[in-house]
Amino acid sequence: MDTKAFKRSLQHSENYHRKGFGHQAEVATQLQSEYQSNLIQQIRDSNYTLTRGDVTVVLAQAFGFCWGVERAVAMAYETRKQFPAERIWITNEIIHNPSVNQRMQEMGIKFIPVVAGKKDFSVVDPGDVVILPAFGASVQEMQVLSQKNCKIVDTTCPWVSKVWNTVEKHKKNEYTSIIHGKYKHEETIATSSFAGKYLIVLNLQEAEYVVKYILHGGDRNEFLAKFSKACSPGFDPDRDLEKVGIANQTTMLKSETEQIGKLFERAMMQKYGTANLKEHFQSFNTICDATQERQDAMLELVEKPLDLIVVIGGFNSSNTTQLQQIALERGLPSYHIDSVARILPGNRIEHRLLNGNLKITENWLPKGKVIMGLTSGASTPDKVVADVIEKIFQLKATAV
Ligand code: SF4
Repeated sequence: MDTKAFKRSLQHSENYHRKGFGHQAEVATQLQSEYQSNLIQQIRDSNYTLTRGDVTVVLAQAFGFCWGVERAVAMAYETRKQFPAERIWITNEIIHNPSVNQRMQEMGIKFIPVVAGKKDFSVVDPGDVVILPAFGASVQEMQVLSQKNCKIVDTTCPWVSKVWNTVEKHKKNEYTSIIHGKYKHEETIATSSFAGKYLIVLNLQEAEYVVKYILHGGDRNEFLAKFSKACSPGFDPDRDLEKVGIANQTTMLKSETEQIGKLFERAMMQKYGTANLKEHFQSFNTICDATQERQDAMLELVEKPLDLIVVIGGFNSSNTTQLQQIALERGLPSYHIDSVARILPGNRIEHRLLNGNLKITENWLPKGKVIMGLTSGASTPDKVVADVIEKIFQLKATAV
């Protein structure tokens, strides 16, 4: 399919909306009251630090809702106002935050059901409204919805669209897109649907494996088995790694994406010579500003004298996991939670480990004075962070 031409024709259709509906002012007031917090504003205004009793909270200088997420949530609220009586669907979680998704459902915005691991679009009727979330939707999903003649409200973040344009460029020039991301993540699924040939690498280790194959060859069957779910149909490592371009899931660890880019660049230089690099390697900067700012702020935060860190964000939020990884790499006790409900009675906390498992840690709050770093992922409203801080203040006050 000519994905570029399809996208262009979709964007010209009268059923397609990717800007608001003129209810911004009304919606802004609603969002402010539902997701903002006076406490967080107070901490921001006092140089991101606040002490109450034995607890000093140090917030990262950049955290929480990013521009793309705020925009997507606002568009969903506007959609409800614009279409008060229509059935409204959303192809996936609008963003990776349980409280925001819950709010969507309360407004009557339904998720497309998943049957046997596949989305069942048969529930959508002509005239229904379907919202595409901040991390986008695959071109196949857009095609199904467009054929159904429903109204599409596309909240895909422009940063994500930028990556799609990058893989389109790779495809046009017959480069294989090396996508740094998680092959199951909705954003990466969407990005790969716009790519021609592609290979998804999760981390530096996988990238090193691929680069070794490029330079020295290897076991083809082992390669294909390793990336069976992470490459384009018919991918052939002996044929499809001669020209590569780098792309990424916008929420991956920035430093890792850069390292992966450098790794491929050096390998292509070594194999084909510096003079021929352009023929074999392409790279555009597709790391989003918000991800970068939050990661940079976390790198600053972990340099401070802290007793522990709390990282708040959805358990399926990739950018939150990256923040947690930074804290753990510094050897700091760090707890990734998705809401205040994970702070349990008896000085216990239920938190997500990097491998995805949940763990309950006992006596996580130290006795006496404690300096606590705090950050949150790009899908987390300030209100969720404020609830966690209030709870910790309250627990420590009671302990005294
Ligand atoms: S993290 Fe970046 S790419 Fe993702 S929604 Fe936010 S601004 Fe957009």
